[in-house]
Amino acid sequence: MSMPTMPRRREILHASAAGLAVFVAGCASVPTGAKPRVVVVGGGWGGLGAVRGLLEGGHVAVTMVEPNEAFMSCPLSAHYIAGFQPASDFQRSYQKVDQLGVKRVRERVLEIDRVKAQVITATQRLSYDYLVLSPGVDYMEESIPGYAEARAQLPVGFRAFEQMAVRKQVDEFLVNGGNFVIGTPKPPYRCPPAPYERAFLIAEQMQQRGTKGKLILVDANPNPMPPPIAKPILNAMKQLYRDQIEYMPSVDIQSINMGTRKLATTAGEVPFTHANMILPMRAPDLIRQAGLGERWASVKLPSFQSRADERIFVIGDSQGSPLPKSGHVAFGSGQQVAEAIVARILGQSAPTTQEAAELPMGICWASVTHKEAININVRGSVLPGEAPKLRLTVDEQHNARSGAAAVSWGEGMWKAMLG
Ligand SMILES: Cc1cc2nc3c(=O)[nH]c(=O)nc-3n(C[C@H](O)[C@H](O)[C@H](O)COP(=O)(O)OP(=O)(O)OC[C@H]3O[C@@H](n4cnc5c(N)ncnc54)[C@H](O)[C@@H]3O)c2cc1C
Repeated sequence: MSMPTMPRRREILHASAAGLAVFVAGCASVPTGAKPRVVVVGGGWGGLGAVRGLLEGGHVAVTMVEPNEAFMSCPLSAHYIAGFQPASDFQRSYQKVDQLGVKRVRERVLEIDRVKAQVITATQRLSYDYLVLSPGVDYMEESIPGYAEARAQLPVGFRAFEQMAVRKQVDEFLVNGGNFVIGTPKPPYRCPPAPYERAFLIAEQMQQRGTKGKLILVDANPNPMPPPIAKPILNAMKQLYRDQIEYMPSVDIQSINMGTRKLATTAGEVPFTHANMILPMRAPDLIRQAGLGERWASVKLPSFQSRADERIFVIGDSQGSPLPKSGHVAFGSGQQVAEAIVARILGQSAPTTQEAAELPMGICWASVTHKEAININVRGSVLPGEAPKLRLTVDEQHNARSGAAAVSWGEGMWKAMLG
């Protein structure tokens, strides 16, 4: 398999002219006069891809709405959670993006008024000509009875800055020992290999620190996800962590009792001292409230244009296409959408075509030790009116080369977003 190097813009984007043409054909025109206004909701992987692309050339007035004061990466953050690296390695400031000319609003969007073409925060109404939504995921807390009451003690940690609460659990476990349970839902959820990666790095620390106890992976799936990665993940589990990890496949968690510290599961009761419940996920409520979809936003491919509103684009994990929920895909879809919006504004729409369009590619990493990883590459294409075709390539075995490539990939992506 060819190894990914530092991502360059075209490589991240990986969208053909055909894709662009399919997109721009359906857009509403923008009023002349002042610069067209594009509002981007979310300053994570997708939102930053869009913002960076939209700022190029200075044709657009770009507003980014993001409640966090800084960025924190979920990719590679297992190295922080398991105690191998400090949190600061995965955090970046928005300062350089500010300097490029974005208007940054540090608030949460509460509502989208599609009739007036405005997004509403606690203090502002922001008008848009085009709206790009990349608000990430919400957790379906109601899917496990007892979870909502236990939220503070059982953080999921699959969103920026939530990792600190999981780290606290891990630190306690590594010192005191016990049963650390990681619950894994059925896809679609953000970064399917991430629960196994988290388990591996915690198990590596158990070995290094001589922690007494077990890490129990309660998996709703029959095998580690996504399916092409199952073999190298199971091999790593057997080869490296036989004494630390107990794997329970095809087991659903039915409820949580924090009083007795027991999970009710389809395989009986599982006692725990610490737990990291990775819940089923969906797009944030904003998407449903705006009538853009149910569990996920409904979009057309390759354009990521909402099926409900031609002026709205939903990218990243909130959109419901079969593309993997990956930061690389999110950033690439943001860049693609930005390029197409600018092309439209400049009146550069290409003729529509029946050619297959390449979709933004995905790169994921499953760290197996703090030095070794398994690499997964996803490439996709779509023919007009047909379901997208995805091709996955996966390392057969964890290796140090992918471990090092993951680190340079992360640095390259954070630079492309925030440098
Ligand atoms: C442990 C882990 C490991 C991962 N590893 C990889 C990997 O190796 N490779 C990879 O490509 N991907 C990986 N991912 C997946 C990657 O993190 C996500 O796919 C990516 O973050 C999705 O980008 P996004 O823009 O959709 O969401 P996010 O990056 O989560 O950004 C969403 C942003 O929207 C903001 N927001 C939410 N609601 C609102 C609102 N109402 N108003 C304003 N702002 C709002 C949030 O504050 C957030 O900053 C991993 C994820 C996890 C959890």
